[in-house]
Amino acid sequence: MSENIFLDYNATTPMPAEIIALMNTAQGRPLNASSVHSFGRQARSIVERARDQIAALINAPAAQIIFNSGATEGNNTVLKYFANERILASAIEHPAVLQAAPCTIILVHNNGTLDLSALETLLKSEKTALVSVMLANNETGIIQPIREAATLAHSHGALFHCDAVQAAGRIEIDMIDLGIDFLTLSAHKIGGPQGVGALALGICGVTPTLLHGGGQEKSARAGTENIAAIAGFGLAAERAKSTLPHFAATHQQLHAPLKAALTTAKNTTVIGEDTHKLANTTLFLNPDLSAQTLLMALDLEGIAVSNGAACSSGKIEPSHVLKAMGYSDTQASSAIRISTGWATTEKDIAYFIEKWQKITNRMKA
Ligand code: PLP
Repeated sequence: MSENIFLDYNATTPMPAEIIALMNTAQGRPLNASSVHSFGRQARSIVERARDQIAALINAPAAQIIFNSGATEGNNTVLKYFANERILASAIEHPAVLQAAPCTIILVHNNGTLDLSALETLLKSEKTALVSVMLANNETGIIQPIREAATLAHSHGALFHCDAVQAAGRIEIDMIDLGIDFLTLSAHKIGGPQGVGALALGICGVTPTLLHGGGQEKSARAGTENIAAIAGFGLAAERAKSTLPHFAATHQQLHAPLKAALTTAKNTTVIGEDTHKLANTTLFLNPDLSAQTLLMALDLEGIAVSNGAACSSGKIEPSHVLKAMGYSDTQASSAIRISTGWATTEKDIAYFIEKWQKITNRMKA
């Protein structure tokens, strides 16, 4: 009998019942935070509570959190604001950064971390307005040297943007301490709803703005706020903060049998294991086995995982992240990512290992 096992939390997350219930209390009600009547005041108080909850997750002043539609918008807001100046972005950024504005690429080491000396050389070569480096990579989970990169950017007069979508709720984030000027978040990666996110501003005093219109979000992001989604995002952030102290240990324990099985499998490489990375992400590859076939066979067993490769125009492209780390096209097309979250159990992982072993033995035969 096939199960229904979701091991793709870096793509999106299921919402806890508590968050759905909270959102249902706001959904469908005439809540516009710009209105002065009692409905409007209720809406305003929901928005401000959520702002506090999100600020607490990343140690930002609440007044510096700007709600938006998600991290694609957050990244575009920052990158497009600097589009007429020089922007440096790491080779492993999400397409929502790399395709938002022309960027000069900063190389990464073969271990998947930013090459800080390459960044320094680029900063010295020409005046730069913005440096963009993500906190943790969505495919590999590898954590980047943000404090060092931000310090370098500032010492050369550039501002620093960090896409913290995958790191939020998984590692401690102190935006001010890390020296981040602009930080992007997305609710649906931390147990909140899709279609809502935030851009957090540091102390640089610059407010990148993409959408102009009504004066919402202190004119930094026009458009009527999605009150139910913002409420859900706030609660998700509060829950993420409360589970943070145990997150790494919980997920290390969940992934331990998986890594043990993978490291003893023939021709199989587990990516980034010697590097500081998110405990909830295991990425592995076996160039002898097609990731697409494996993915579909796992899906038939009721297991949802992801391949590291990107799909564009119906064609599977090798992962740009793995290619930046020096893997070949074949290797970069054969990666499978398992990412766990709040509802994952040891039983889910045991079920995955059993089915993955059965499928790979069949594929090899
Ligand atoms: N940045 C990273 C690192 C992501 O993983 C994602 C989503 O996959 C995004 C940005 C885009 O986020 P959203 O779905 O909120 O637009």
